[in-house]
Amino acid sequence: MIQAIVILNAGSSSVKFAVFALAGGDLRPLYRGHFEGIGTDPHFLVSDADGATVADERDSLAKVASPEDAVPRIFAWLGSHSAGLEVVAVGHRVVHGGPVYSEPVVVDGPTLEALTAFEPLAPLHQRANLAPIRAVAAARPGLTQVACFDTAFHRTAPLVAQVYALPREYFDAGVRRYGFHGLSCEYIIAALEALDPAAAAGRVVIAHLGNGCSMAAIRGGHSLGDTMGFSVLDGLPMGTRCGQIDPGVLIYLMQQRGMTVDQVEDLLYHHSGLKGLSGISNDMRDLLASDQPGAQLAIDHFVYRIGRALGSLAAALGGLDALVFTAGIGEHAAEIRARVCRDAAWLGVALDEDANRRRGPRISEEGHAPSVWVIPTNEELMIARHTLRLLGRSSSPRQGEATAAVHR
Ligand code: ADP
Repeated sequence: MIQAIVILNAGSSSVKFAVFALAGGDLRPLYRGHFEGIGTDPHFLVSDADGATVADERDSLAKVASPEDAVPRIFAWLGSHSAGLEVVAVGHRVVHGGPVYSEPVVVDGPTLEALTAFEPLAPLHQRANLAPIRAVAAARPGLTQVACFDTAFHRTAPLVAQVYALPREYFDAGVRRYGFHGLSCEYIIAALEALDPAAAAGRVVIAHLGNGCSMAAIRGGHSLGDTMGFSVLDGLPMGTRCGQIDPGVLIYLMQQRGMTVDQVEDLLYHHSGLKGLSGISNDMRDLLASDQPGAQLAIDHFVYRIGRALGSLAAALGGLDALVFTAGIGEHAAEIRARVCRDAAWLGVALDEDANRRRGPRISEEGHAPSVWVIPTNEELMIARHTLRLLGRSSSPRQGEATAAVHR
């Protein structure tokens, strides 16, 4: 019987999952898949460790109406497809650990209650993240479940970086800068340690540029702060989210334009960012391929805002030893990386154009500081490592590095 860990990353209409086999104290990727279009047009897709599609179903999924419906289907597929697989734990990506959790945690009844209390801090995400925990607890009582938080890594940021300039009572009530994409940051720092240990121990900025985008300042492996704040709306412009915006705009929209809170929320989360500014698409590939002025402006603004954030984070760090690009845009859009690096020449960044086209991993000129890297992120592997550790089964922070070069 092969022991395995299942990783679940649930959103409001999708559940992504990954399965790792425990090989000794090591993690070996077995499957990666997702349920998408839950509630509308569900699609179940799974690939194996070589990237070959092993499941692709649309029919017979009509009853999958919510993320919690997807969970038993995933387990049923695993049971029927991989006879001989014993699931020993489930690790979950949970967006919010609130002010309390600075580490992943084994979920029991009281913990689930505490995490439920953070739902108002991230109403669009937290409920969707917790539903599969309940579904697994109902279907497999006694199975170890671990919650890994996007906020936890940033809990080390100093108070001065966590407060808003509001009366202190709001901070005490939870209105503070949390920061997100922490699992990605942790993975990247561990991977950078293998490539450039001195830089990883120094002053690092990670640019996580996917559908959601954020940049984090990390010194000595610890977060000093993040461009995302109280919510995942702050900081850089994203696929459909606005990023940093003058709060006066929100007051104007509600007072003068008569928009409701729900309408403002919908605008800021779903119709802004690259999509809103370009009027074309939230997908960087579409914008790079377009000759429309809106696409150009959206790209120019995106690069401009990354440059401003980089300057601000480098100031917080007191300098810069390494810059890392990751996630969909960071890993694949050489043109965006090149523009950001050229604009950062004032920080000493010297781009190696050939290395950038080859996707590095090092894309700065040899011997030049700061070093610049492209490192594919792997949040699922990070969750699997934490889960393994909390099962009392792992030793090294870079556990499974050799075997876990999972396709993405
Ligand atoms: P998520 O935040 O949902 O995990 P990803 O990290 O997968 O998203 O990033 C998705 C985004 O990456 C896409 O919307 C697209 O804009 C961008 N992207 C993916 N591949 C490319 C590419 N080859 N060139 C430019 N952008 C890309």
